[in-house]
Amino acid sequence: MSVNSADIEQIVRQVIGQMQGTASAPKKSAGAYPKTGRVAMLTELEKFELKEYAIPALGDDDILVKVEGCGVCGTDAHEFKRDPFGMIPVVLGHEGTGEIVAMGKNVKKDSAGKPLAIGDKVVTCMIFKDNPDITMFDLNKQNVGGADVYGLLPDDDVHHNGWFADYIVVRGGSTIFNVSDLSLDLRILIEPAAVLIHAVERAKTTGILRFNSRVVVQGCGPIGLLCIAVLRTMGIENIVAVDGEDKRLGFAKEMGADKSVNFKNHKGIEELTKAVEDAFGGYPADFGFQCTGSPIAHANIYKFIRNGGGLCELGFFINGGDATINPHFDICAKEITTVGSWVYTLRDYATTFDFLKRAKGIGLPVEKLITHRFPLEQINEALKTNLAMEGLKIAVINE
Ligand SMILES: [Zn+2]
Repeated sequence: MSVNSADIEQIVRQVIGQMQGTASAPKKSAGAYPKTGRVAMLTELEKFELKEYAIPALGDDDILVKVEGCGVCGTDAHEFKRDPFGMIPVVLGHEGTGEIVAMGKNVKKDSAGKPLAIGDKVVTCMIFKDNPDITMFDLNKQNVGGADVYGLLPDDDVHHNGWFADYIVVRGGSTIFNVSDLSLDLRILIEPAAVLIHAVERAKTTGILRFNSRVVVQGCGPIGLLCIAVLRTMGIENIVAVDGEDKRLGFAKEMGADKSVNFKNHKGIEELTKAVEDAFGGYPADFGFQCTGSPIAHANIYKFIRNGGGLCELGFFINGGDATINPHFDICAKEITTVGSWVYTLRDYATTFDFLKRAKGIGLPVEKLITHRFPLEQINEALKTNLAMEGLKIAVINE
């Protein structure tokens, strides 16, 4: 049996990995990894193919992560269905997490300054690490610049660029966090939860959202449900959830909503508004979070909010069309303060780790948001389940 230089390199890496692994914590795995790993490559519309590629030699600043799981995002579903970003062939998946199995010699700490070692559980973040307040809006203007948006990088000669895979190569300079103290399910929820941490930060800038506010949350998909959980961890208890499905409204109560209103049970906006006010004991809401992508829902929510109240619109991640409102009645005469919210800043991302711990601490079953789990081999089904709007959060889990 001949031993070539690549094999020697592999052995050396394994030995070093084992030494680092045992030195930092005995429970951690040895840091061994195979020569190749599979990725789910989107090769044409609605078709992922599992492809196997060599795991490249790591640079001094690079990190190799064994993927444990990755959430399916609306962005993945759009790309799968229509390729709006023109990235095919691409390895998708940006809501991923896994365990470090190898690191370049320069890697010592994560983007928050926490030590990194083989065996640590990590997530990446699409926001630049050197500017904690940069938002997705700025990121787009800079055309992604030097940020590594894993899961949204067109295929290149590294190939291991997305989280729908066995392994991902996290290049030096990327934003990465050590989240070893969170369970796999909670780690998968970090990215979507960060969207709500950001939205609530935006809402706070109005000065209207307080611990004792009456808050209406419209839309009980994963975003609306996480919104309710974030509000609860802030001590806000007077929350009314609005949706068209009783099952989702049941979830809303588990996430901390006090009351719920199924809009399908009420004819017309006057009746619906009355139902929301009744749920607050006869009062309109002080503040609203609009978490659906429906223009009609956007128009409706103004009616639920009191004069001088506030609104955070975060439902339109993508263009969902025009909404018809009456600027006099809905905004001017009521003096409503509105804020928009889109994606998150790096600061929000780091805050999210603590939100998830607090949510667990006060007994909110946030992991239940992950309703469907698929192995990597069934990634096409995972994406189709997301597109069919079945369940809440869909995740790809590696054994
Ligand atoms: Zn996402």
